[in-house]
Amino acid sequence: MRNALYRNIPIYIGLGGLLISFIVCFVYYSIQPTFYNYFWISVIVFSTVISVFCGLWIKNIIYYAYKDPLTDLFNRRYLYEKLESELKRLNRSKTALSLVIIDIDHFKRVNDKYGHLAGDKLLTRVSEVFKANSREIDTIARWGGEEFAIILPDTDSQGALKYAERLRKAIEKSEKCFGATVCIGVATTDKPIAIDILFAEADKALFQAKSVRNKVVGANFPLCEI
Ligand code: GH3
Ligand code: MG
Ligand code: MG
Repeated sequence: MRNALYRNIPIYIGLGGLLISFIVCFVYYSIQPTFYNYFWISVIVFSTVISVFCGLWIKNIIYYAYKDPLTDLFNRRYLYEKLESELKRLNRSKTALSLVIIDIDHFKRVNDKYGHLAGDKLLTRVSEVFKANSREIDTIARWGGEEFAIILPDTDSQGALKYAERLRKAIEKSEKCFGATVCIGVATTDKPIAIDILFAEADKALFQAKSVRNKVVGANFPLCEI
């Protein structure tokens, strides 16, 4: 969704509309050249404008299908699709892929004490910290209520643990996050294993971190199929 293909959808569809209308007009004109030139020009301009609007509309549909409206992060659907394609890519590239799962500690207390609007604000602020500390190629998604998942392509277990620790500290220190802390589970694989296994391992690590809180725990690497 960050790539040029997505950004330029209205331009590509507009150019497509321009080309098709030009061809249609040319064919009609060669059969029956009776209309005035301005008629053909207005047909071409009109269909190009309609195509650009269709492109904008398609871009919006893609945006709403894959984004979380509150945090503007990717949603669960995009997360799974992206993870599937990244895991397939592992077959070809000889690198590792890491999955990071994050859960805000005692989030319910924020809601209960300060109200749901404050809870929502915390979710957006924590998301901003994730964005500020991640690379362009990382996929940050809201996995559930106050749970997030981040795909780190080309990242081994050491790199992922370092990244997770950086995130944990950034949230802890951030003045905008109401003193919230997070627990993080990290799992890494260098084989194209099933998504469920990768998630289960990261979730197990997160569960361990939850017994301490404000903590990062990594799953054993390499992962093995159960
Ligand atoms: P723990 O430290 O064990 O993770 O506990 P917790 O309080 O963080 O987690 P718990 O699962 O007990 O509560 C999560 C709460 O998150 C419950 C739910 O009402 C709230 N929640 C889920 N989605 C949203 C949302 O979009 N906005 C707000 N404000 N609250 C949400
Ligand atoms: Mg939770
Ligand atoms: Mg929580």
